[in-house]
Amino acid sequence: MKFVVWLDEITNKDVHIAGGKGASLGEMWNAGLPVPDAFIVTADAYRYFITETGIKEKIKELLKNLDIRDTKALEETSKKIRELMESVEMPYDLKLAIVESYNKLCEKFGEEVPVAVRSSATAEDLPDASFAGQQDTYLNVKGADNVVKYVQKCFSSLFTPRAIFYREEKGFDHFDVAIAVVVQKLVNADKAGVMFTVNPINQNYDELVIEAAWGLGEGVVSGTVSPDTYIVDKKTLEIKDKHIARKEKMFIKDEKGETKLVDVPEDLKEKQVLTDEQIKEVAKVGIKIEEHYKRPMDVEWAYEKDKLYMLQARPITTLKKGKKEEKSEEVDEGKIILKGIGASPGIASGKVKIVMDIKDIDKVEDGDVLVAPMTTPDMVPAMKKASAIVTDEGGLTCHAAIVSRELGIPCVVGTKKATKVLREGQIVTVDGEKGLVYEGIIKKKEEEKKVEEVKEVILAPPIITATEVKVNVSMPEVAERAAKTGADGVGLLRAEHMILGLGKHPKKILEEEGKEALINALMEGIRKVADAFYPRPVTYRTLDAPTDEFRGLEGGEREPIEHNPMLGWRGIRRGLDEVEILKCELEAIKRLREEGYKNIEIMIPLVTHPDEVKRVKEIAREVGLELRKDVPFGIMVETPAAALIIEDFIKEGIDFVSLGTNDLTQYTIAIDRNNELVSKYYKEDHPAVLKLVENVIKTCKKHNVKVSICGQAGSRPHIVEKLVEWGIDAVSANIDAVDTIRRVVARTEQKVILNFIRRKSLEE
Ligand code: PEP
Ligand code: MG
Repeated sequence: MKFVVWLDEITNKDVHIAGGKGASLGEMWNAGLPVPDAFIVTADAYRYFITETGIKEKIKELLKNLDIRDTKALEETSKKIRELMESVEMPYDLKLAIVESYNKLCEKFGEEVPVAVRSSATAEDLPDASFAGQQDTYLNVKGADNVVKYVQKCFSSLFTPRAIFYREEKGFDHFDVAIAVVVQKLVNADKAGVMFTVNPINQNYDELVIEAAWGLGEGVVSGTVSPDTYIVDKKTLEIKDKHIARKEKMFIKDEKGETKLVDVPEDLKEKQVLTDEQIKEVAKVGIKIEEHYKRPMDVEWAYEKDKLYMLQARPITTLKKGKKEEKSEEVDEGKIILKGIGASPGIASGKVKIVMDIKDIDKVEDGDVLVAPMTTPDMVPAMKKASAIVTDEGGLTCHAAIVSRELGIPCVVGTKKATKVLREGQIVTVDGEKGLVYEGIIKKKEEEKKVEEVKEVILAPPIITATEVKVNVSMPEVAERAAKTGADGVGLLRAEHMILGLGKHPKKILEEEGKEALINALMEGIRKVADAFYPRPVTYRTLDAPTDEFRGLEGGEREPIEHNPMLGWRGIRRGLDEVEILKCELEAIKRLREEGYKNIEIMIPLVTHPDEVKRVKEIAREVGLELRKDVPFGIMVETPAAALIIEDFIKEGIDFVSLGTNDLTQYTIAIDRNNELVSKYYKEDHPAVLKLVENVIKTCKKHNVKVSICGQAGSRPHIVEKLVEWGIDAVSANIDAVDTIRRVVARTEQKVILNFIRRKSLEE
């Protein structure tokens, strides 16, 4: 058994020995990339540590009977385990191996080398390695004894409350997961930052983005300093864009070797961090890394005295399911046969299946392109099989758009004539970003697709924002995928899909199977989401059932025909007419809260008058639920009426407000959101909409009521910038937009602080 390995002994395949981080460093080292010297304390060493010291049994004992939903008990257990692991004496032979390796490193450089000690999780097969315990990193560790001490601390990071919770919940054995520790010569960086080998903001794969700041890289990685941003053309190395930020703070190593956040010297604040030559040097290595790994990568780099180092490289990961390939139809240049609105990004090819109504859905097979006048909720099972969706009707917030974004498949809506132009069985390629449909499989698009197979871009490093960044969920089945975005909770859990997924009209369920059947079905769906996000909050929105969408269900024939369903019987006004369904929803939440899901909140859709809020509270009381006391309760602001008299709603008593800009836009500027004939006029950033939104945010702030957004505008960077400036508390975005929005929020928050500081200093 090897306690220690050096970088030249390992490659990417050695995750089980060196953990993900360690293996990746070895891979980079052996690919000839400039990586600082390092050795790795292996996963075997960790196993030896817990067995040889006898603590394994004690840890097992501590974990026995732990109720992971009891947050306090979870935290206490984690603390006890970590203290135990850190206080026990390291076995002599293991300690010796670490000390000897550290001394060897010091000999090479002729001094007592300061090192970074980082945990490196081996559980790469777990969907979210961060849960497996790879958080701990200690910088500027000097001296053999300290190295040993911090290695031990990294070992114990395998038992953070989060990591314990995750493994328990997923049924993983705690002792199947091990951890390695990277001990690496610390680069005393003058400048450092990160690089994405595809542009994560506009998803352009011909561009690479470098972020750079003064001092150690921690500032950029953690998002505490605002970096310069450079955009480089990967083919020509031309610097396409430079954003020189004003850099107020930097991390440095002080005389004692400790990491400190200090002011940037005045003459460097506005100065470009990397010279143009350096930008190109970093970019070149980035391209080399991407070529080596054959996929988009996220890289941490640093300069020490003009020498460039690569500190870490991680794939921008993909969880996209494979698609059917029909190579025989492959062509070089694509003929565009249809244009529409790009509603869900991605590129996919497949066989056209035209679904005129629900009777046709059985013909859709895995990988087909589903083409329909418009999708309806009862088509969701077929949509899940499809590789792409194309519709005649609809705009960016129609059913097809919302569901495809959630499923992570490309979608083009509002083509006006897809069902007429496309032929049954024809092979097409759908570009859901540009809103185009091509004939055949396009070679050029295949290239893009390789990188487009990024459905969940987990863009490390994690960014912490003061404004919460949440995610919207409609289908409980995607809850796990949504949770993996690291979002701060679910800002909108739509009830419709949960009910529509049952295939039967809720009224018919009540008549034929009774109310317990409906309550149980709701509980099952909501529980799935609450579980995936626990303890992060999940905001359940009560049913908002438009008659046209519910008509397709078994028992839906009774839905009234309305001239304009968008102005019709939907939202809470319908909920109050059909109290028996609303009661089942409230009952389901009540029971789930009793089960321990304290992370569930309730909000009601499409309110127009405070009386509606009052009524809902009375109805809740009838099922034994005291809204606000038993469960946080809020309203959606989706009508100009609600936005204009928001103060009256606050007076009636609510805990929070969520801006539903999809509806707010259509009702403010009189544009039916589902009507493709007017979709070009549908603008969430119309000044009138923004004025209402600003009024709601500022009024809520004044009265200390939490305010958030869950409409599609929350996935649009330029609008989110404004919302953050106005003081919004939370932004809930689509799954595919969470990463981008998190970065936009972080940057805007920094700008707000910066502007405040600047104004203050001008005043003084
Ligand atoms: C909205 O109207 O903005 C909203 C989020 O609700 P939905 O899209 O479900 O109508
Ligand atoms: Mg709405």
